[in-house]
Amino acid sequence: MLNLIIFGPPGAGKGTQSEKIIERYNLAHISTGDLLRAERNAGTELGNQANEFIKKGELVPDAVVIGMVRNFISSHSSAAGFIFDGFPRTVAQAGALDEMLHEFNAEVNVVLGLEVEEDELVKRLLLRGQTSGRADDQSEDTIRNRFREYQSKTLPLSAHYTSQGKYRSVQGIGELDVIFNALCTEIDVVKK
Ligand code: ADP
Repeated sequence: MLNLIIFGPPGAGKGTQSEKIIERYNLAHISTGDLLRAERNAGTELGNQANEFIKKGELVPDAVVIGMVRNFISSHSSAAGFIFDGFPRTVAQAGALDEMLHEFNAEVNVVLGLEVEEDELVKRLLLRGQTSGRADDQSEDTIRNRFREYQSKTLPLSAHYTSQGKYRSVQGIGELDVIFNALCTEIDVVKK
């Protein structure tokens, strides 16, 4: 199994690059943001509860997200591997992911961190908000709150994975294909 995490702040390009990566490496794509929005659009209780956090730019509680990822992995157990996009976002989520993969005798192989500075991120998110219909991309206050959540709860994971020798930093500004090639170079190193 090949398991990748695409890591980085909101607006770094995780979703865009994930789409390209799954095509080349035949992985199952798991975006917790997409799963949560699908739950909300379906009007499930989980989706409605999660939306209270999403619209404020806060992280959804760990137990909710971890349960959703566990269901996704069990229903895709024959996948050649996974790309985790927007997950894990906390140390507790990272621990839960290790346990889930352990059940498949698998592990996180590499964490690809997209580096983009904050001013560029705000621009990208506001632009995306004009067409995505995502309310959390339309207010600069909400966007700034998502960055605060990222800084305090998610960024510490880069140190966690660096200490495991799994973190690779990739420049996230520039041509999409140049960024994609840089990501592929890192993936090819760990791909057996
Ligand atoms: P972005 O990376 O642009 O913020 P996402 O679609 O990944 O967009 O996430 C949107 C929102 O969904 C987040 O702000 C958060 O409220 C919620 N969310 C997504 N993934 C997680 C997660 N792993 N843990 C907690 N909340 C999450």
